[in-house]
Amino acid sequence: MIVSVDDIRAAARRIAGTIEPTPTVLSASLSAAAGVPVHLKLESRQTTGSFKLRGASNAILQLSDAEKQRGVVGASTGNHGRALAYAAQREGVRAVICMSRLVPANKVAEIERLGGDIRIVGNSQDDAQQEVGRLVAEQGLVMLPPFDHPHIVAGQGALGVEIMQAVPDAAIVLVPVSGGGLAAGIAAAIKAINPATRVIGISMARGAAMKASLDAGGPVFVEELPTLADSLGGGIGLDNRLTFAMCRDLLDDVILLSETEIADGIRHLYRHEREVVEGAGAVGVAALLAGKVLSAGPVVALVSGRNIDMDLHRRIVSGERTEFETMDGVA
Ligand SMILES: *Cc1c(COP(=O)(O)O)cnc(C)c1O
Repeated sequence: MIVSVDDIRAAARRIAGTIEPTPTVLSASLSAAAGVPVHLKLESRQTTGSFKLRGASNAILQLSDAEKQRGVVGASTGNHGRALAYAAQREGVRAVICMSRLVPANKVAEIERLGGDIRIVGNSQDDAQQEVGRLVAEQGLVMLPPFDHPHIVAGQGALGVEIMQAVPDAAIVLVPVSGGGLAAGIAAAIKAINPATRVIGISMARGAAMKASLDAGGPVFVEELPTLADSLGGGIGLDNRLTFAMCRDLLDDVILLSETEIADGIRHLYRHEREVVEGAGAVGVAALLAGKVLSAGPVVALVSGRNIDMDLHRRIVSGERTEFETMDGVA
C-alpha cells in the first residue's frame, strides 16, 4: 500500500494541533431502525465544516520553505478549497483555488473570506483541473489536489484511527466516496487495525465516478451532474495514481443513492439528531434509512461535512421536494 497505517498515524500526530478532535455519538433513532448500535462520527463539526482540513493541513505542514514561497494551487468542489485556504493562510502561504460553475456560491464566498485566490472556470472538475495545470506550468505553484496525493490521503486516514478508537468493535463503517481520498485513507487505517471491519463506500447515483471506475476495472470518465451531494461530484482523474487502486483493494462495497434518499438523510439528521449536514455528509445515514446496509454488529456512519446552502437546507427539512429530487430517474 502506498499510504500505510504508519503514514496515517504520523499524519494524525502532525495535524493534531491544527484540527478539532470530533465527537462520535450513538444515534438512538438510527439504532432503533437498524436493530444494531449506530454511531455517527460528526466530522461535520470540523473547522472549515468538513474533514478536508485534515488532508490539507497534513500536506501544507510538509511543504519545504521554497514551496511555501511559491504558493499552492488545487481544484475543488468547495470543501477542499476552503480547507486549503484555511491551512495555507495559517502558514502564510498563498493558495489559488480553481472551481467550476457547479460549486455553490456559499462555498465560494467562504474561500474568499479566508483569503483564497479564486478562479472559476468551466462546468466541471475536469475544467478546473486544466486551469490548475496551467497555473503550475506558468507560475510554478505547488499542486495540492483534493484526493489523489499521499499526504492528502494520509491526513484523511487519521479519521479511521479515531473511528476505531471510539468504536473498536465496529462491524461496518460507512464512508462517502467521490475521488476516494477519504475512503482510501480510512480503509487503510481500519483494515490495518481490524481487518474484520467492513468499509463500505457511498455515492450518489448521479455521476458516481469511483463506482463506475471500479466496475470498469480502471478510471473512466463520468459526466458530472447537479446533485444534492455536490461535494461528491467530479471524476477520479483518468491518470489516477493512488485512490483508485486503494479503493479497489480496500473497500468491501460501494452503494449508490437517489437524490430522494439523500434528502431523507439530510432531513433525518436535522429532525432527529439536530445536525445541519450537507448532502455528501448525509449519505451514510441515508443508506441506512433506505435499508441498503444490513449489519449484524455496530455501524459507524461518517458524517463528512456541513457546508450546505442554508436556504436549500431549509427547503429540504421543511419537507419541500426540491429540483434535485425531481431529477431522480431522469437521465
Ligand atoms: C470531498 C468530500 C467527500 C468525498 O471525499 P473524496 O476524498 O473525494 O472521496 C465527502 N464528503 C464531503 C463533505 C466532502 O467535502
